Amino acid sequence: MTTKPYEIEIIEKPGTSRVFRAALFDFDGTLSLIREGWQNVMVPYFCEVLNEIADPARETPDAIERIVRDFVDKITGKQTIYQCIRLAEEVEARGGAPWDPLLYKKEYLRRLQLRIQDRVDRLANGSARPDDFVVPGGRRFLQLLRDKGVKLYLASGTDECYVKQEADLLGLTPYFDGGVYGAQDDYKTFSKAMVIERLIKVNALDGAELVGFGDGYVEIENVRAVGGYPVGVATNEANPGGGVDAWKRGRLLDAGARAIVPDFGDPEKLLAFLFAESR
Ligand SMILES: [Mg+2]
Repeated sequence: MTTKPYEIEIIEKPGTSRVFRAALFDFDGTLSLIREGWQNVMVPYFCEVLNEIADPARETPDAIERIVRDFVDKITGKQTIYQCIRLAEEVEARGGAPWDPLLYKKEYLRRLQLRIQDRVDRLANGSARPDDFVVPGGRRFLQLLRDKGVKLYLASGTDECYVKQEADLLGLTPYFDGGVYGAQDDYKTFSKAMVIERLIKVNALDGAELVGFGDGYVEIENVRAVGGYPVGVATNEANPGGGVDAWKRGRLLDAGARAIVPDFGDPEKLLAFLFAESR
């Protein structure tokens, strides 16, 4: 683990007219490390499916992997089913007969569960501490925001039953006085954009009063779209506290993040930055 000073990369300051009254957090990769490595389950699985039907004379496994990585990444933050819908389309485009996307999702979750079950078990039986799987500084930062009177919302593209269970295991649920939201079986009834729309209405907010934290495209774009201030959390999930993940950083900048942080490792500094000009 490195001991680099905590740096906030500023693309655009929040500005003098804003006072944040609500904050939206993504879960996986932003606050939780329980599902660390999910991409290394989804990408090989999707490649396996496509390699089975692709014509190797026209498409190499490398080319397929690039395509898969690209769409998996762009859809990150949306519900998992959308990545599976896209996989079905890619199968069809290659002349294959795709499964129902729900079946791809089931198989992916089965494989992911093999990877993370041990972490969940250790948290549940007390042999791991919750903070072992919380992004550095995350818990303290949530507390500081609450102390400031900011209302907190958690929204994830992971199925809601898992998000709720894992937020409980990490002891994070009580911070989210606005609620914990996740993917629904009837996937059209949930999106991060819908959560944002609702929280703006319920709290009679101006979009500018919303700050968002995420490590994926979708939450950054959604927060930006309503005039909120999106902070990209370029967590180095395999080495938490080890500085910015360069690849995530590039993607978050593309999505329109206004500031980039490696994690919440200096929560007081991050809070001071966000509220510096609003006093
Ligand atoms: Mg995430």
